[in-house]
Amino acid sequence: MARSLGQFSRRRFLVTAGATTATSLLLKGCLGNPPDTTTQTSPAATPVVAVKAGEEPEVKTVKLGYIPIVEAAPLIIAKEKGFFAKYGMPDVQVEKQANWGAARDNVKIGSGGGGIDGGQWQMPMPYLISEGIITDGKKIPMYVLAQLNTQGNGIALAGKHKGKGIGLKLEDQQFFSKLKSGGDRFKAAYTFPKVNQEFWIRYWLAANGVNPDTDVELLTVPASQTVADMKRGAMDAFSTGDPWPFRIVADDIGFLAALTAEMWEAHPEEYLAIRQEWVDQNPKATKALLKAIMEAQQWCDNFDNRKELATILSQREYFGVPEKVIAEPLTGKYDMGDGRTIDDKKMAVLYWKDSKGSVSYPYKSHDLWFLTESVRWGFLDKQYLTNAKTLIDKVNREDIWKEAAKEMGIAAADIPTSTSRGVEEFFDGIKFDPENPQAYLDSLKIKKA
Ligand code: CA
Repeated sequence: MARSLGQFSRRRFLVTAGATTATSLLLKGCLGNPPDTTTQTSPAATPVVAVKAGEEPEVKTVKLGYIPIVEAAPLIIAKEKGFFAKYGMPDVQVEKQANWGAARDNVKIGSGGGGIDGGQWQMPMPYLISEGIITDGKKIPMYVLAQLNTQGNGIALAGKHKGKGIGLKLEDQQFFSKLKSGGDRFKAAYTFPKVNQEFWIRYWLAANGVNPDTDVELLTVPASQTVADMKRGAMDAFSTGDPWPFRIVADDIGFLAALTAEMWEAHPEEYLAIRQEWVDQNPKATKALLKAIMEAQQWCDNFDNRKELATILSQREYFGVPEKVIAEPLTGKYDMGDGRTIDDKKMAVLYWKDSKGSVSYPYKSHDLWFLTESVRWGFLDKQYLTNAKTLIDKVNREDIWKEAAKEMGIAAADIPTSTSRGVEEFFDGIKFDPENPQAYLDSLKIKKA
């Protein structure tokens, strides 16, 4: 099967295996922006050192990878606003990755091998890397340390499907079967297999009665190619982070069927995860990093700062896109492209607080949903559900998040007391109770498991 993780992994590995230096592993023109041949030289603000005695980090640097989508904002802002320096980590390197496969390959070799120590991840990538599933069997234990954001993703459809009642819920339940019987294969894409983006598109299809394994064709396309591929008719739909769905509308190539915020309010999105080895060797530096990222998340979450955030992210060295395509979604303004508009801050990407509480805190119950969903689609063996608690307790280090939050004086009310956010509800009325993931699987009509 062409989409198997093993093949994907080997192919990606070949792409980057020849590169030997950190610079050559960095992104070159990922989003259609001109190649950037320099490493990052962002002028950080004058550091205000906020390091208490006994909390001095062991090292002043770490290499964190990111993908140019709004999920990366806390890492970029922590650098740009001098928050890393403020907590004693002035030399943190925030490095753009060519794509998710490159990020995975870079963390596999680590900063010592010219790669990265960790950074931004879709879920459950840190688990798949820890288990060696997407690293050719080589287990690289990782720790999930914080959630970077919620929401801010969408499902884009090609313009030729406009006016056919395709939205969050399909008006014409026969749309996909008619397409199929007409010999047309509906192609849906995501940026890396078996993680967030594929889960969102699969959930949306399945909730609408479409079996993603038999009724449509699913494929992996790098974010940078999504616009061009949709333009030339190579795909019918794709799922990715802002600002890419917006561009589809802005360039009049298609429309947005749904925002992920409509599918699952305050859903878990992307995460900060770092190699276990690095964290275990540098426990104070890990907390310093977390403090800087939490402060950046608070800054990003303030809508008064969103215009400036758009200005910073749009810079060539970061996203390299026109400011407007980021500014609108960052303020909850979505022209869905099919006549529907959304103007609601609650629908935007959120970084610190959402309607369910903390964004930054990495709930173990969310990791469990990602593992359960992986079992649902046959990406992971059923044993992962049986052993989920042991695995999650090993990978998810919410305890370090809490320590860092307390040390930096986060209000007790903003520090969750349970590792579970409780029962989650999706747009189709399906519920996920972290106490009983099997009941969730049993309640789903379309699944592989
Ligand atoms: Ca995403």
